[in-house]
Amino acid sequence: MEFPKNYDVIVIGGGHAGTEASLAAARMGASTLLLTHNIDTLGQMSCNPAIGGIGKSHLVKEVDALGGAMAAATDRAGIQFRVLNARKGPAVRATRAQADRALYRAAIRETLEAQANLQIFQQAADDLIVEGDRVVGVVTNAGLRFRARNVVITAGTFLGGRIHIGLDSLSGGRAGDPPSIALAERLRELPFRVERLKTGTPPRIDARSVDFSVMEEQWGDTPTPVMSYLGERAQHPRQVCCWITHTNTRTHDVIRGGLDRSPMFSGVIEGVGPRYCPSIEDKVHRFADKDSHQIFVEPEGLTTNELYPNGISTSLPFDVQVDLVQSIPGFERAHITRPGYAIEYDFFDPRDLKPSLETRFIEGLFFAGQINGTTGYEEAAAQGLLAGTNAALRAQEREAWCPRRDEAYLGVLVDDLITSGTKEPYRMFTSRAEYRLLLREDNADLRLTEKGRELGLVPDARWEAFCEKREGIAREEQRLRETWVHPGTPQAARVETRLPQPLGREYNLMDLLRRPELGYRDVADLKGQAVEDERVAEQVEIAAKYAGYIDRQRDEIERLQAYEDTPIPADFDYSEVSGLSSEVKQKLGDTRPDTLARASRIPGVTPAAVSLLLIQLKKRG
Ligand code: FAD
Repeated sequence: MEFPKNYDVIVIGGGHAGTEASLAAARMGASTLLLTHNIDTLGQMSCNPAIGGIGKSHLVKEVDALGGAMAAATDRAGIQFRVLNARKGPAVRATRAQADRALYRAAIRETLEAQANLQIFQQAADDLIVEGDRVVGVVTNAGLRFRARNVVITAGTFLGGRIHIGLDSLSGGRAGDPPSIALAERLRELPFRVERLKTGTPPRIDARSVDFSVMEEQWGDTPTPVMSYLGERAQHPRQVCCWITHTNTRTHDVIRGGLDRSPMFSGVIEGVGPRYCPSIEDKVHRFADKDSHQIFVEPEGLTTNELYPNGISTSLPFDVQVDLVQSIPGFERAHITRPGYAIEYDFFDPRDLKPSLETRFIEGLFFAGQINGTTGYEEAAAQGLLAGTNAALRAQEREAWCPRRDEAYLGVLVDDLITSGTKEPYRMFTSRAEYRLLLREDNADLRLTEKGRELGLVPDARWEAFCEKREGIAREEQRLRETWVHPGTPQAARVETRLPQPLGREYNLMDLLRRPELGYRDVADLKGQAVEDERVAEQVEIAAKYAGYIDRQRDEIERLQAYEDTPIPADFDYSEVSGLSSEVKQKLGDTRPDTLARASRIPGVTPAAVSLLLIQLKKRG
């Protein structure tokens, strides 16, 4: 049967990429359908119910700055919030929240159900309707045909998903959910490069069977950090404690004893796993000289006894899992509620994508999330938002939005993926961004909300709150620049108690704030009134303290801009560029970068090769 409505955008999959994609398209006014296996698992966290962390919170805040749902849902579901790297510079500070899994799902579902222009439908997408080289719709497992000019696939780990526990394996999208076999087969018929990756999860443990008295307590920060720019502490549910324990030599002996039945070590699993989130058997094998690894014991929610032992992801056989868990202090009598497992799945080489996340071979077809080789809810959400936005822009016959590396971590993420591809699950780190000081988690709104408003992603209430904050910062910076403190005055005496030497000359308050010994609250009320809003105060302080570095990064970006913008035509023939090695020609031909800057970031493409390309491009005129 043909469904009577013709949509602007259909999103397949209601995980973290799919929910943000469908919300973004609908916010922009596109008529949108979210087609997912199960409405009850919308916003489900497959692994640890935690959002944010280093590099990842930057993405969450960017999604938030563009009107997305993840940060707001985290504020409603977070049961422990911390700022990581709090003592380091603002570029690497990151907010992380442990969330109540059920509250998070409920918050996402409520947001989806309240969104205008968005309809949800529960069924599996089994096939795509493709006419020529354009996608025009989707067919479900029950044979329903939905038509749309744009389709965003966000099928996560479900494509050809295969779950492993020891040497047993079964088909599955994640534990308890079916895989997407038909869609995976259909996509394999299209001209995309496809490979396998793997990820894993630890066994879950019943808190009633744990002895917490031998573990170290770990509480969240006070005052409690907030994830969304519009969020408030009052939204947070009850906050709880996490714990820390460790593996020991006995645990490692148990693991070594089980390696002959490990699907990873016996060669059953072929997909490459996340290097930065390895299984415990991988850690014990790779770091053989270490006789202990840390485990964070994290509650899965306020109304469940299940605990997530962060650090012992494993696909060893269940009997080995029981022994390894029970060798850990505090877990001696632990009852496992769900076994750990590994999952292998198809992902598509992201070098076959345009910067908009539209595929190169099928017009109107977009990929976002784990399907592109990434791992993590935050990476998925950010791509989802971008793909949903660009699908809506395409429906509205507007130009695609492709944020640059100096504008957003989202730009870094997509550029890394489409330029270099990935051989292992890709996760975000602050070290991936060359302009870290500009791309902070605290200023994602100042970087992106105006653009989001122009695109149609940012509703009125967020826009008004943003404008008020931005004006507040500008007003306060101006006041500080225009307010002077003179030597020998009571104001000078007050700050001199914190300084190694007397002032010696007059200073305006902004310049005083540049002194490492002084913070905003030390100088702002020397004359006049300090602002109360901490978010405004924070921006003013960062602008003062890091002005030199920030200006230098801006200059560098401007210098590179000319280069960045030199386009390479889609039909450019690399074989004609004399002097290029055949290996570089092959790499460029495979990747087909659309600008010279993107070509320069392909591993193996040297500055000399870029100069040759530039000469050839100039020759073409
Ligand atoms: P998902 O969240 O997987 O959502 C996919 C959605 O699409 C699901 O709702 C599914 O039902 C739906 N769907 C799929 N196919 C179809 C179809 N044909 N028709 C309709 N609906 C469909 N990340 C980390 O950062 N750290 C970790 O340690 C970690 N461990 C993980 C362990 C496991 C076992 C798994 C499964 C994932 C793990 N992840 C981890 C990854 C994290 O869960 C994903 O990166 C993230 O959820 C990806 O989001 P997504 O939206 O791309 O896909």
